[in-house]
Amino acid sequence: MAERNEPGGATRVTTVRLLPGMCRRCVRAVSARVSDLPGVVSLEFDVDAGALRVGGAVDPAALRRAGLVVCPDGPDCSG
Ligand SMILES: [Zn+2]
Repeated sequence: MAERNEPGGATRVTTVRLLPGMCRRCVRAVSARVSDLPGVVSLEFDVDAGALRVGGAVDPAALRRAGLVVCPDGPDCSG
């Protein structure tokens, strides 16, 4: 399960865990935040896995912070 970084090769992909029970608006808020981060070239939600796959050279800590964003309804929203 080691992550492989290939310098000069394929685009690096970072997977971010989403909070459980995120509604569609939360997902929107997360994608807005993440696409604002420098270095992001692609953005893919894996709803089944509850994860977000981000392509590009992105700071993983900044990504994780952006992945914890919830919609204005707050963390208790359920859709
Ligand atoms: Zn929400």
